[in-house]
Amino acid sequence: MQERLQKFLARAGIASRRHAEQLIEQGEVLVNGEVAELGRKIDPERDLVTWRGETVVAEQEMLYLVVNKPKGVVTTVKDTHGRPTVLDLLPKQQARVYPIGRLDIDTEGLLLLTNDGDFAYALMHPKFRVTKTYHALVQGHPSAKQRARMAKGLMLADGPTAPAVVSLLRDERWGSWLAISIHEGRNRQVRRMCAAIGHPVLSLQRIAFGGLQLGDLPLGRWRPLTAAEVEELRRQAGNME
Ligand code: URA
Repeated sequence: MQERLQKFLARAGIASRRHAEQLIEQGEVLVNGEVAELGRKIDPERDLVTWRGETVVAEQEMLYLVVNKPKGVVTTVKDTHGRPTVLDLLPKQQARVYPIGRLDIDTEGLLLLTNDGDFAYALMHPKFRVTKTYHALVQGHPSAKQRARMAKGLMLADGPTAPAVVSLLRDERWGSWLAISIHEGRNRQVRRMCAAIGHPVLSLQRIAFGGLQLGDLPLGRWRPLTAAEVEELRRQAGNME
């Protein structure tokens, strides 16, 4: 059966459909040895697709996994410094999957992985506004006024943050636990937001992504998402077709 080249590339986890269109336009994708034009349809059973010199194989089965990432593990697929990656947490025979977005090396918690490029794109793109919730242990005790400042949006080096939901979970002697929900995904955003109100993060954990909760998944372990969870995330990210 014929399908559009960009859809095939997304199915192979190379890129989202949209980004795959750009790769085709840039002449990076060959079909049977010839540069493919946008609009090209292929038969995955008969046509040989290559991208940057490698044969592209589309997984038949779409995989959607959640891991509870420990600290010290990097979110990239391969680390140039030889540190453990999130893929090391999965069984060796696991088909290729890619992280959806990233968590800092020193952040733990909920991370999604998939080989579905469109799904990854929709969940990562700020325009779809999927909410991510973190529990942050911060140094000192931010006042209600400081928490309100963070909730309203504050100025960071790369621009103002969108409104967030911030609540105090509990006070310790030397710090406070905050629950912080944001829908942006800027680099080290929660850490920078907390630092901006003068209360740097001591420990950070992502506990929810959209409606999906980390729950009691042990640290360092993974599980497949249920079909209902995948559907719900799709719904939250908006219409992906
Ligand atoms: N915000 C951060 O500061 N770090 C993360 O890993 C995720 C969100």
